[in-house]
Amino acid sequence: MSTFKELGLKPEIISALDALGYEKPTLIQEKAIPQILSSTQDLKAFAQTGTGKTAAFSLPVIEQIDIDSKKTQAIILSPTRELAIQIAKNIAEFTTHIKGFRVTAVYGGSSIENQIKDLKRGAHIVVGTPGRTVDLINRKRLILKDVQWLILDEADEMLNMGFKDELDKVLFVTPEDKQTLLFSATFPKEVEAIARNYMHNPIEISAGQKNKGADSVNHEYYLVSEKNRYPALKRIVDVNPDIYGIVFCRTRRETQEIAEKLIRDGYGADALHGDLSQAQRDYVMKKFRAKTLQILVATDVAARGLDVNNLTHVINHKLPDQIENYTHRSGRTGRAGNKGTSIAIVTRRERGKLSPIERILKKKFVQTQIPSGKEICQNQLFRLIDKVHDIEVNETEIKEFLPAIFSKFEDLSKEEVIKRFVSVEFNAFLSYYENAGDLNNDTGSDRDSRGKRRNDENMTRFFINIGRKDKLNPARLIGLINEQGIGNNVDIGQIEILDTFSFFELDKNFTQETIDAFGGDVDFGGRNVNVEVTEKKRSGRGGGGGRKRRSGGGSGHRKGGRRSDSFESKGRSGNRGFGRDRNTRGRRSGK
Ligand code: AMP
Repeated sequence: MSTFKELGLKPEIISALDALGYEKPTLIQEKAIPQILSSTQDLKAFAQTGTGKTAAFSLPVIEQIDIDSKKTQAIILSPTRELAIQIAKNIAEFTTHIKGFRVTAVYGGSSIENQIKDLKRGAHIVVGTPGRTVDLINRKRLILKDVQWLILDEADEMLNMGFKDELDKVLFVTPEDKQTLLFSATFPKEVEAIARNYMHNPIEISAGQKNKGADSVNHEYYLVSEKNRYPALKRIVDVNPDIYGIVFCRTRRETQEIAEKLIRDGYGADALHGDLSQAQRDYVMKKFRAKTLQILVATDVAARGLDVNNLTHVINHKLPDQIENYTHRSGRTGRAGNKGTSIAIVTRRERGKLSPIERILKKKFVQTQIPSGKEICQNQLFRLIDKVHDIEVNETEIKEFLPAIFSKFEDLSKEEVIKRFVSVEFNAFLSYYENAGDLNNDTGSDRDSRGKRRNDENMTRFFINIGRKDKLNPARLIGLINEQGIGNNVDIGQIEILDTFSFFELDKNFTQETIDAFGGDVDFGGRNVNVEVTEKKRSGRGGGGGRKRRSGGGSGHRKGGRRSDSFESKGRSGNRGFGRDRNTRGRRSGK
């Protein structure tokens, strides 16, 4: 293993790296730095987030920047505002001892005028998101004709986000003889096309195996029924009292909903997604970095560029639609020499999605049992005991109270005192999980037939524009309704599947929520789903897959929606001050 000095970097940079605590180069740095310093050949690097790629491309560029020239000599494109800011911050740190060095970040969602002012002052390196960069090029405020280095960071993500035209533009307006450095965690065909069309005979380097997830990450999956997805998430969090992680969701709506449930259940959690203003997002990230929050619930896009190295867990509440995104998600943990765990919560139907991910990772997911109430209690209890054991005692503050306290405990043995303290802290938690069922044995079907049939007046009948020809059946329809996350404990009534359209009934209290849930871009087998309220059926004849109705009969009603079990959802988690809530008597879950 070489040192940064041996790689050929100047003393000003080395001293900055020392101050940052970078002792030795990472693998990608060891490979990229001498290559970029010694050759102008284009370079393609396979590198995950967390491998030290930012320093790998920026240090050799910084080394070669002509500080006496005010011209922009390097442009770095990154997929998100957060990542652009992070890269610019890293570069500023690397160059603190290089007098006159200037780096500027340009990104959307922030005043373009201020960024123009910054650019006017001169920037040796500009870091930008593709949209804002092109905007500034078009306004002739960002001049790239003297650029010697073009760096595409997280190229796969930029293309995923639809920035192909912007990349084309920047590649086009920068000089032909520049050196292009392309960093990507995965190399789907769109990224290969960029390399083929715009790069000259690029040398390939890798921070590990091509497309392989970081070795420091364990991949686990938990098999659940749809209705147990959230209770399972809670248990995973509860069994890991010191969890510091991100729960990934596919949509903004799902993100908001899961965050709200976690907050309501007493966890230190919050949501990060695109519907929040920039100020709100900054606030959430600040809290997460400061560890005021233990859990960040986020969409893929919002979490990009989040520079947090010590995450213990990444949890896929639902797997991403594009499997490549799994590597991005799991790459958020196991960074900078730490170990991490990436968890997928999947239903039987979703289990098939794991194999293609395993092929990319070249690693197997380990099926893990959802922890029992007893295991959770044990972990929480021992964490409490360790905390008590290791707490720093502030003798001067408590000194004056101690004699009175000791005299109150005079009649109790040490064992009795310990038992009582533990009980005070722990009784509520114990009773919460006392009768917790086994969530592992409830994975077969997403239905719940326990729901009592309600009267027809309590149901709204909906028309849906998909039917048997779209391969819809009652189970799939229930699955589709479940996926929209409509309320808690929602009864689904009669279902009728016809050839090209269908009907279903649902608790009328959720009528508007159902319309809203299906109002966005819901897709089923490539068709855009449309749902409307329709008139109640009068006769008992069900068409197609529908069942005959018995008047006031008990058959046919299923629980749908996010039917979180009342036992699991009403209590308070142990992760934030467990045991302090006196309303957490456990109730039999009936499982
Ligand atoms: P990156 O892959 O660039 O996002 O880097 C991941 C994290 O590792 C960042 O927080 C860096 O500050 C840190 N890092 C990068 N290189 C080194 C190094 N050689 N030694 C210690 N930490 C590093």
